[in-house]
Amino acid sequence: MATTNNFKLEFKSKPENVGFARVVVAAFATQIDFTLSEVEDIKGAISEAVTNAVIHGYGNNPDGLITIRGAIYDGVLEVVVEDQGVGIDSIAQALQPGFSTIPDRLGLGFSFMQSFMDTIEVRSQPGRGTRVIMTKKVSRRADHAQQSLS
Ligand code: ATP
Ligand code: MG
Repeated sequence: MATTNNFKLEFKSKPENVGFARVVVAAFATQIDFTLSEVEDIKGAISEAVTNAVIHGYGNNPDGLITIRGAIYDGVLEVVVEDQGVGIDSIAQALQPGFSTIPDRLGLGFSFMQSFMDTIEVRSQPGRGTRVIMTKKVSRRADHAQQSLS
């Protein structure tokens, strides 16, 4: 599928960059016909993924680098959030609702990402880092198509 637009963003693993990343991805996402509520979902997913990179990937070390790649094709936004941090031992375990390696956290970040986005895929290697690939398709196109058929 031909990509209509894409970007790459790299920033330090500082908590204040969670908000920065949310806004950048939201601005990019509005280039296609997402509803406001869908854009809020995308912002939520980005917050969870970037927060994970900051606190888990880099253990709150602000000198780590986080990369986000975004692409738009055929009414779909694809976002890839990547760190070169500690990685995940068991992805299956990490994806379970309520699982966290930090006792006072809820372990719901991946569950939120799954509910906010259409697809989410996690790739990780211990000691090498983690990549979270998420996609979301605009819903309004279907509405428009239905309206024009009726
Ligand atoms: P919450 O998101 O509810 O605050 P949490 O971050 O522990 O809690 P998830 O976001 O679902 O929950 O992540 C589950 C677990 O996966 C984490 O506790 C951590 O062990 C691991 N994990 C997630 N992202 C990364 C990452 N980028 N690098 C290393 N480990 C990660
Ligand atoms: Mg989390």
